[in-house]
Amino acid sequence: MSKNKSGESVKVVVRCRPLSRKEEASVSAGGIVAMDLRLGQVVLRNPRAPPSEPQKTFTFDAVYDGDSKQRDLYDESVRPLIDSVLAGFNGTIFAYGQTGTGKTHTMQGAWMDPDQRGVIPNAFDHIFTHISRSQSDRQYLVRASYLEIYLEEVRDLLDPGRALELRESPETGVYVRDLTSCVCKSVKEIEEVMNSGNRARAVAATDMNEHSSRSHTLFLITVECSQPGPDGREHIRVGRLNLVDLAGSERQAKTGVRGERLKEAAKINLSLSALGNVISALADGRSGHVPYRDSKLTRLLQDSLGGNARTVMVATLGPAPQHYDETLTTLRYANRAK
Ligand code: ADP
Ligand code: MG
Repeated sequence: MSKNKSGESVKVVVRCRPLSRKEEASVSAGGIVAMDLRLGQVVLRNPRAPPSEPQKTFTFDAVYDGDSKQRDLYDESVRPLIDSVLAGFNGTIFAYGQTGTGKTHTMQGAWMDPDQRGVIPNAFDHIFTHISRSQSDRQYLVRASYLEIYLEEVRDLLDPGRALELRESPETGVYVRDLTSCVCKSVKEIEEVMNSGNRARAVAATDMNEHSSRSHTLFLITVECSQPGPDGREHIRVGRLNLVDLAGSERQAKTGVRGERLKEAAKINLSLSALGNVISALADGRSGHVPYRDSKLTRLLQDSLGGNARTVMVATLGPAPQHYDETLTTLRYANRAK
């Protein structure tokens, strides 16, 4: 993990999914991504280059290959961040990558299979286990919200159909006005919140694949802990956790696209490029010039990026040769965030 001059910490990990069955059948030379798990390295082979050309190597805080387990990624790369949220700090986890490379698999996974549960269900278990084991004089309040940013518009997934506004106040910082917030007392209750948001999203979209590749979804959890201090007064700590499944990072087609579609493409790229700029400014310790205001996503996450907050970016890759260019772009984006 890089801890820069001003104390921010951004951790970048890369995960490569296995070749799909279909890809396996069509790719004779195998995948183009090799990993050294011990060194945290990714080696990318250019399928169009002569064998003499040197391969590109990138180093990250951790790398996960096609055999990696959901649980290992959680324990090594996510657990410390959730612990800090439970201690009253803010934290954000992003899944970034081309559509089809495993962002949703990493963030959500398959809920019903204990081995396939992703970051979000593992975080739910972790938070409520922590609460159930805590000292009896501590009172916890867990609240959840679920929203998406689609074409720079913020929508409440727990009260679908409404576009929401971002507001700012000196006390609370940037917030979403009128966003639904559900108090959750158990894993079961918070899972139900997430499921109802997922259902609402699936119903609203005419083409779910296209929709999910173009929208950013944010599941927000606030953990409030109150405890009597040595002075006898209640002390309250609040940690905020943002679990973010980003829009697909693939370049939006620029040729042959006009009018509304071109504007849409520009908006999708806006939040992702703004996020890249913010994270790289934080990673460099240039906190004086962090361009939070450039997009809805970065404005909304302003108080959870930088300062005492922790950030984990999981960049997801596919190993198929036909996606070489996008894979290289993802690795470069992730590399900039370190
Ligand atoms: P994205 O959200 O980035 O568009 P998905 O998470 O939907 O991608 O993944 C695309 C497909 O690949 C899904 O069928 C998913 O189950 C599969 N997949 C993704 N990552 C992995 C992985 N690490 N291991 C096995 N299958 C994976
Ligand atoms: Mg997805």
